[in-house]
Amino acid sequence: MSLQYRSTRGQAPALDFEGVLLAGLARDGGLYLPETLPHFSYAELQSMRGMNYPELATTVIAPFIEGSIDRETLPQLVEASYGDFRHQAVAPVKQLDHEQWLLELFHGPTLAFKDFALQLLGRLFDHVLTRRAERVVIMGATSGDTGSAAIEGCRNCEQVDIFILHPDGRVSDVQRRQMTTVQSANVHNIAIRGNFDDCQALVKASFMADAFLPDGRSLVAVNSINWARIMAQIVYYFYAAFAVGGPDRAVNFSVPTGNFGDIYAGYLAHRMGLPINNLVIATNRNDVLHRMLTTGSYARQPIEASLSPSMDISISSNFERLLFDLYDCDAAHINSLMTAFSQGEINLSESVLSRAKTLFTSACVSDEETCHEIRTMWEKTGELLDPHTAIGTRAARQCMRDGEGPMVTLATAHPAKFPLAVAKANLGKEPELPSHLSDLFDREERFDTLDNDLLTVHAYMAEHCL
Ligand SMILES: *Cc1c(COP(=O)(O)O)cnc(C)c1O
Repeated sequence: MSLQYRSTRGQAPALDFEGVLLAGLARDGGLYLPETLPHFSYAELQSMRGMNYPELATTVIAPFIEGSIDRETLPQLVEASYGDFRHQAVAPVKQLDHEQWLLELFHGPTLAFKDFALQLLGRLFDHVLTRRAERVVIMGATSGDTGSAAIEGCRNCEQVDIFILHPDGRVSDVQRRQMTTVQSANVHNIAIRGNFDDCQALVKASFMADAFLPDGRSLVAVNSINWARIMAQIVYYFYAAFAVGGPDRAVNFSVPTGNFGDIYAGYLAHRMGLPINNLVIATNRNDVLHRMLTTGSYARQPIEASLSPSMDISISSNFERLLFDLYDCDAAHINSLMTAFSQGEINLSESVLSRAKTLFTSACVSDEETCHEIRTMWEKTGELLDPHTAIGTRAARQCMRDGEGPMVTLATAHPAKFPLAVAKANLGKEPELPSHLSDLFDREERFDTLDNDLLTVHAYMAEHCL
């Protein structure tokens, strides 16, 4: 029997991998998780140490997709997903000083770590949907990085139309052009006259009622609540740990965090047997997670714009997956907690909080400190960091504990994606786009601008589906 996935809230039917790939949010409002986690023994970890990135990805992912994707197909999909990354290592690990390292996750097509998941996701969709002879419609809202990564992942999918909503005039020029210059017929960019929250509200409302789609097609989610995205991100924690001496010594990771997706993948790597001492939750001024870990109060807050916009969030959706574990997989309890949280705030019990603190530490980094960090790192190491990564390295130093071994910060984006923050750091140097994007500002853009109105958006989508 194939691995089953169940909802954190316990009220939705269990699904296999194919089911969760196409489901997104569970019907009860919860998030899907595998019923059991695969575990690698010490000997197995040692044998994985010499693998290249695609081999390692195949090994780590195989147990999760058992029964849904056959054994010969997975390596092909993985190879195709990471073959185009512009660094031979796919996820190179660089040494910054005696104890600090950088895991570079920005060598994919859109220059952010989201390519690791979305390149694979697009290929998984196409494989599964071709076999089922089905077409689906992907719909997502973006404040920048997710949209371009999802579009790049799905631009060649035969079975998929993708509609990405971005707030008109409120994403950076680089980010918008990375989406709107993709000339594939199945890619549809919509600028909404509104802000990011408006875009997200339109997407949410559409998932509640997808009858507006032609031929009975269904909507599929590509935001980080999709289990397959988390799964793909587990791989690079193993890869980085092996590069700095694991599994013979335990390692530590600092993760610039917004929706808790990326760092949750690190937590899963730990549970799957990878020795990790410390996972640093690195936040900008939108510090809902840092406050949670320091005070036990998990409370929604209004979003404030920062120099690291991909981490500007008011709640961290994937945190629910960690809560599920911390409360001993008690779905009924999670259900009532999340209902209480929808009113604005919950408080974690002492024992749950202290359990979380055995693995997690946290720090909150201001815009000013971010600029200072970009500058200091440039002067000390010659590395030009993007603002999200700079939050990671700064938090890493703040949270490092003696004798715990190497600290790896996840470099989540290329600095050229966020030139504003780099300019504010006053280095007298501008980050350059890599060669495959050097003509980005000469390419033709294609998008339509629509009012913030559900029926208008639905009519547009129905008309533009291939
Ligand atoms: C999305 C993103 C993050 C935050 O990742 P989460 O999985 O939401 O925690 C951090 N940095 C960059 C550059 C991103 O694009």
